[in-house]
Amino acid sequence: MKAIAVEPGAGEPVIVERPRPEPASGEALVRTLRVGVDGTDHEVIAGHHGNVPDGDDRLVLGHEAVGVVEDANGTNLTEGQYVVPTVRRPPNGTNEYFERGEPDMAPDGKYLERGIVGAHGFMSEYFTSPAEYLVPISEELAPLGFLVEPISISEKAIEHAVASRSAFEWEPESAIVLGNGSLGLVTLAMFEHVLDIDRTYCLGRRDRPDPTLDIIDELGSTYVDSRETPVSEIPAAYEPIDLVYEATGYAKHAVETVDALAPNGVGVLLGVPEPWEFEIDGGKLHRELVLHNKALLGTVNSHRGHFESAIDSLDQLPGWFTDDLVTGVYGLDEFQAAFERDDEIVKTAVEFASI
Ligand code: NAP
Ligand code: BGC
Ligand code: ZN
Repeated sequence: MKAIAVEPGAGEPVIVERPRPEPASGEALVRTLRVGVDGTDHEVIAGHHGNVPDGDDRLVLGHEAVGVVEDANGTNLTEGQYVVPTVRRPPNGTNEYFERGEPDMAPDGKYLERGIVGAHGFMSEYFTSPAEYLVPISEELAPLGFLVEPISISEKAIEHAVASRSAFEWEPESAIVLGNGSLGLVTLAMFEHVLDIDRTYCLGRRDRPDPTLDIIDELGSTYVDSRETPVSEIPAAYEPIDLVYEATGYAKHAVETVDALAPNGVGVLLGVPEPWEFEIDGGKLHRELVLHNKALLGTVNSHRGHFESAIDSLDQLPGWFTDDLVTGVYGLDEFQAAFERDDEIVKTAVEFASI
């Protein structure tokens, strides 16, 4: 079967031939339909994040997948059922994080991530997976099933942000997403259409006309240009913000988020930057967090419950939004197009089989 693999840091993704996998006991065989591409895939391709499985020199890419069960192999799944796989797997047997159903909280060494950290991804015509990591999705939503994984990332981030403010009365009225990439835009759509936050903003660094700025406008959100309004000046230029969601991967934003927050607000950090040394006023940062009851937290990955919530959220997003977000779905004969990057490209996916 065909798969899309890369030698991280040393080249572009290529098509490779690999044997079709055989499901082990407890696993199902899944025929891959579509697999999305995100900023992390580009970081993996560049060799800045993740690693290949032991003993291999190439990594099969892809962690945002949707497929259809080809062989249920005695599991509780049924053949023909559409499924979305979760990303993390235990490295040797299992461990307490996976047993608790919280693989997203596992520390380094206690997890692999398919398509990212030490395990092959889903960009192959077939993949196998333990049934417990395959989340059923309806036929109607299956064409957009590759959006479930990124939405699940925000389900977790929002759950943790809300939990961090659960000791007191907290109703966020304003929220900003830092970053107009695909993760930022799906989160902005969730703020508008799932959480129903009164006033939302989205930070970018683009000129109009631009398809991502059109989406921000259409969502009824306010575009903030970071070249004119640095994150720390958002309260003066707009308003202090109750919930800041960082999805730029631009390390200064992690620090400046504290200035952007309203008293009692929370900033949730998602970006995975390269190391970068710069000066900050540590006293001001410390003082702001303490005297205004602010919280700053990082979050990575998501668990099965977040995938289930993400499927509900996907169902609530308007059709025009997903139409505008997904700028290209490419077959294997033109898969390179899914990895191109320019301002006209928002979200892409590779199609392995038609639905
Ligand atoms: P992406 O497509 O690279 O999006 C990043 C966006 O941020 C781009 O649109 C970029 O604008 C914008 N940006 C960067 N620096 C900026 C600045 N200084 N001012 C304004 N805008 C700026 O990546 P993505 O897929 O949406 O993911 C976003 C980040 O989250 C990445 O770092 C990714 O690794 C991370 N991530 C983390 C998790 C997790 O579990 N924690 C999950 C998924 C992704 P331009 O396009 O105009 O350059
Ligand atoms: C993936 C997560 C993963 C994270 C860090 C993200 O792009 O969506 O599942 O945990 O990268 O590797
Ligand atoms: Zn991702």
